[in-house]
Amino acid sequence: MLPSFDYVRPKSIQAAVTHLSAERAMAHAGGTDLMGCLRERIFPVGKVVSLSDLQELRGVSETADGGLRIGALTTLHTIAEHPLALKRFAGLAQAAAEVGSPQLRNQGTIGGNLCQKPRCWYYRADFTCLRKGGGTCFAVDGENQFHCIFGGGGTCFIVHPSDTASALMAFNATARVAGPKGVRNLPLEKFFVLPEVDVQRETVLARGEIVTEIRIPPPAPGTRSSYRKVRARRSWDFALAGVALALRFDGRRVVGGRVVLSGAAPVPWRSTAVEQVVQGKELTADVIAAAAKAVTAGAEPLAKNAYKISLFQGMIEEELTSVASL
Ligand SMILES: Cc1cc2nc3c(=O)[nH]c(=O)nc-3n(C[C@H](O)[C@H](O)[C@H](O)COP(=O)(O)OP(=O)(O)OC[C@H]3O[C@@H](n4cnc5c(N)ncnc54)[C@H](O)[C@@H]3O)c2cc1C
Repeated sequence: MLPSFDYVRPKSIQAAVTHLSAERAMAHAGGTDLMGCLRERIFPVGKVVSLSDLQELRGVSETADGGLRIGALTTLHTIAEHPLALKRFAGLAQAAAEVGSPQLRNQGTIGGNLCQKPRCWYYRADFTCLRKGGGTCFAVDGENQFHCIFGGGGTCFIVHPSDTASALMAFNATARVAGPKGVRNLPLEKFFVLPEVDVQRETVLARGEIVTEIRIPPPAPGTRSSYRKVRARRSWDFALAGVALALRFDGRRVVGGRVVLSGAAPVPWRSTAVEQVVQGKELTADVIAAAAKAVTAGAEPLAKNAYKISLFQGMIEEELTSVASL
């Protein structure tokens, strides 16, 4: 059963920010994640602030410099099907199409996708874990088959649940954020918080702040992108492992770009190790094999998730092979 809370539907970003500045206020976009959290009483709530009347937060458009602007309330379905995304930001369209089920993509928004809460079953169940202010991470010695292999830092071993975050980070996207102190632009690489920095936060958003839009710079000529996700169930599921590529080619050589992993770490995990291996090279079988080896260098699997090592290696091999032939 849902707890009782105040519900407001402000008509302006400023009014939403004012409402969200109250203690225990939560933004409500599509509600596909939030309502489950409230029903399960994962965190206390005093006020739910619906963003649904903020029309300026909807829609996808091209920016003057040829980049992409996506309003935070834009649904994942809209992004997955949008001609601009499909044509020039294929990896993002693919990532949006991989989220959940058609119903979730029709209701879920890009802002909510970036700000959703972790899916760790201890966090979501009746365990007062570190992330909920307790003293223990129950995954360390528990059922940790879906947990992280990078970035746990000995504290909390969630994986970041978002598919689109990795694709957006691969495209070097920025979140525009409105809050009580005004507007700021945050590169997605600075948006997410590792447990070693603050185990109780997933993003750097301060009280009262909301994401209003995402901006992606124009992709450099020769950019090829993709998003690939492996999950336990075909119908809907979160990523066991995901790979977002946005690589820039000059002829057959890779001359730049990014590789970002989902299902690997508490934040979307940029694999600079793979980027370094492929930089300046043709994607020959040897280079691809070296990149596949590099992707899990430094990984620290837990007792039940070592399968992710070979999974990520195989995915990098397949994705680089595929992007080389585009
Ligand atoms: C069965 C199921 C399967 C799912 N599968 C996947 C999956 O495969 N991949 C995946 O990535 N996700 C998945 N999700 C998670 C979720 O549905 C999506 O991430 C969705 O995009 C969330 O968007 P929403 O608009 O519904 O967010 P909401 O539920 O409205 O909000 C989620 C969180 O973000 C905050 N928030 C929302 N909008 C903003 C904003 N603009 N600024 C600041 N904070 C904000 C809310 O306060 C809340 O804490 C799944 C969820 C369910 C229930």
